Amino acid sequence: MTPSMLDLQESAQRWDYWIAAALIGALASLAFDAAVNFAGVVMTKGRFTGGRIARPVRDRFEEKFVRIPSGCWIWMGNLRNGGYGAIKIPRRNSQMAHRIAWELFHGPIPYGMDVLHKCDVKCCVNPDHLFIGTDIDNVRDCIKKGRRAILTGEKNPSAKLSTSNVLAIRSANISVKKLSAKYKVKPATIRNVLQRNSWRHL
Ligand SMILES: [Zn+2]
Repeated sequence: MTPSMLDLQESAQRWDYWIAAALIGALASLAFDAAVNFAGVVMTKGRFTGGRIARPVRDRFEEKFVRIPSGCWIWMGNLRNGGYGAIKIPRRNSQMAHRIAWELFHGPIPYGMDVLHKCDVKCCVNPDHLFIGTDIDNVRDCIKKGRRAILTGEKNPSAKLSTSNVLAIRSANISVKKLSAKYKVKPATIRNVLQRNSWRHL
């Protein structure tokens, strides 16, 4: 055995070498974690996502309504569910804008509760015009204000057909498919008209 090999054997038995090796291992693992974290931060900042990361909800909310003299803040973004404002929220899809208004200005909505309008303007997102209630309150409120009656036919903001369209559809002798093409609505809309699931008052 040469003297140098003897040295090696001795050194392998020395604890300080093992401690040094363990330290280097731990440092390498920390560095790896840091790199992964950094990559995560870069991704969420949008550098690698084409800049399509949503800006803070509040900013987007603030630029999507106009204040009118009545005090209502009228939502200028998308409308859905018969006239309520809609806003896309990351990881929560499309949300009703007046509910988001409540969350932004007043805080979380208690579980199972609805956000209702004092002003009766569905697309209004003024937090001062909103109050918390139940679905039943909403229906009661609706009936009291006569909104149910107002919402029939063409007066319903989500109506896709006019009174004359509906009368023409019901008296037509052509297929649902042709009617749907003619009036540029889904076949289901035509079927609902024909089966009186919609436009029942006519
Ligand atoms: Zn209002």
